[in-house]
Amino acid sequence: MEEFDVVVVGAGAAGMTAALTAARSGLSTIVLEKAPVFGGSAARSGAGIWVPNNDVLLAAGVPDTFTKADTYMAAVVGPEVPVAKRQAFLRAGPPAIAFIQRWSPLRFRWMEGYSDYYPELPGGMPNGRSIEPVALDANILGAEYANLNPSYLPTPPSTVVYDIDYRWLALIARHPRGVAVATEIVWRYLQLAAQGQKPITMGQALAGGLRAGLLAADVPVRLNTPLVDLHVENGRVAGVIALVGGTETLIRARRGVMIGSGGFEHNERMRKQFQDEPIGTAWTVGAASNTGDGIEAGERAGAGLALMDDAWWGPMIPLPEGPYFCLSERTLPGNIFVDGTGRRFVNEAAPYSDVVHTMYAGDHFPAWMITDQEYRNRYLFKETAPLLPYPQAWYDSGALVKDWTITGLAGKIGVPAAALRATLDRFNGQARAGRDTDFHRGDSAYDAYFADPTNRPSPCLAPVGLPPFYAFKIVPGDLGTKGGLTTDVQSRVLRPDGSAIPGLYAAGNASAAVMGHSYAGAGSTLGPAMTFGYLAGKDLAGKDLAGKDLAGKDLAAS
Ligand SMILES: Cc1cc2nc3c(=O)[nH]c(=O)nc-3n(C[C@H](O)[C@H](O)[C@H](O)COP(=O)(O)OP(=O)(O)OC[C@H]3O[C@@H](n4cnc5c(N)ncnc54)[C@H](O)[C@@H]3O)c2cc1C
Repeated sequence: MEEFDVVVVGAGAAGMTAALTAARSGLSTIVLEKAPVFGGSAARSGAGIWVPNNDVLLAAGVPDTFTKADTYMAAVVGPEVPVAKRQAFLRAGPPAIAFIQRWSPLRFRWMEGYSDYYPELPGGMPNGRSIEPVALDANILGAEYANLNPSYLPTPPSTVVYDIDYRWLALIARHPRGVAVATEIVWRYLQLAAQGQKPITMGQALAGGLRAGLLAADVPVRLNTPLVDLHVENGRVAGVIALVGGTETLIRARRGVMIGSGGFEHNERMRKQFQDEPIGTAWTVGAASNTGDGIEAGERAGAGLALMDDAWWGPMIPLPEGPYFCLSERTLPGNIFVDGTGRRFVNEAAPYSDVVHTMYAGDHFPAWMITDQEYRNRYLFKETAPLLPYPQAWYDSGALVKDWTITGLAGKIGVPAAALRATLDRFNGQARAGRDTDFHRGDSAYDAYFADPTNRPSPCLAPVGLPPFYAFKIVPGDLGTKGGLTTDVQSRVLRPDGSAIPGLYAAGNASAAVMGHSYAGAGSTLGPAMTFGYLAGKDLAGKDLAGKDLAGKDLAAS
């Protein structure tokens, strides 16, 4: 029988960070991964990471402090998240980032200009406090590179694209910086390729870099080895039952088990049980292997659950190649969202989670994004360059509808034509005046991030008036779920009465999010997942970091 100090379930952001921390704290550690690949949703992601006040930000001159971040988070997440939990995240985040940079090849850079999602709240930062990985050389992974879960949106060959570049690439036909960034992403590639590198960025770099850290620390990541259940002895979690080569096998854990098995986005039964109609698994872009296994195993061991009704929502277009997370396309000027009544119901440029919360709150289903030819001529849409026709397959699937008149378009999507026309007339007047007095699109600095600075008078508002007209179907999708096992400031899993289950830890989307029902800024899922993974690793090693960095410095004083 195999025995380790620590058994980590799931080779995603939370699991690999916890394993790295435990291993570098001197513990024998193994990671069990259900899928035939490692990286989970983290590998698919854009890898924006929201960890306020970290060394990377401070070195870049970002004027962040613990107090500023705490004030902001208090305003964003509200009273639902315990103050101690929120502050544990803010205190441990900076040392977690420092630790990862010390023990893995990962290096991070500031995503300058990517605004916090509520920059006008106290402590909010319009210029942003998110970071992302610097390009990583995939060669350091050796043969293991072949086991990296592919990206959700692979970058074009022979380019090195950062998350922060998309804003400008969308404007390639509008702004000189769009062309400059397009040139730069090829130039970056040529420079690194000339040194023999195989550069990867975003989620590929994040998951690849964490895995490289584990390789260097001699931590095995066993693929195709799903957790089936927790092994409990005398009230203590003492190991896991996993499928090893198809056989249920006990793997013992002397110190504890850390659940980093992600959310339940792909579990139809759980989604229907905990979430509202029209919910299902068709509109999530999370990793297919995230089916809530760790959450259910934790619950069987007596854990409490929280936030199960919520997710890291985002409006999606149900394209035939898979749901498309509609981000810059929705916030660039020259479109509106309407529901089945033909009326607007939301600030289209609001943070993605808020847009879907609004859809659910007012039952705004079905919903459509209405645009025109002017918008098509101006902006990149997914991979379709400005001016080019949208793919025929999108029309064939029903995700996209086109007509030369508003009346014709309304008829095709089943909304009242007079209402749609009146909505557009009103919106177009507001766009010409540069002020959306109905839904305040453009009032927040966040709205202007994926906008068009060349558009006047507002970078966020343009009339929809040049035929033909287009309607994209909008559905309530997500990046994954955010409800799960309740945990404390050391990532220990809690029973409903608040007591800790000995030997059991959880972080990431298997645990209830420290963001509550909100989303503070780009990276609000990965930042906490990595930080609470780090705290779990430290606690398993018996190192109490509360309020201190690795050198023992008091973080609250910073
Ligand atoms: C397209 C996309 C873009 C995103 N962009 C961002 C972004 O820029 N910033 C941000 O903060 N977040 C982003 N997210 C969300 C973020 O990637 C996830 O919230 C985050 O990865 C969750 O981390 P995790 O460790 O909990 O889960 P994951 O990273 O999903 O890892 C969970 C792992 O557990 C494994 N697993 C599941 N069940 C079992 C089992 N029974 N036994 C063993 N292993 C199991 C899974 O296979 C998976 O490998 C994005 C997500 C997607 C899909």
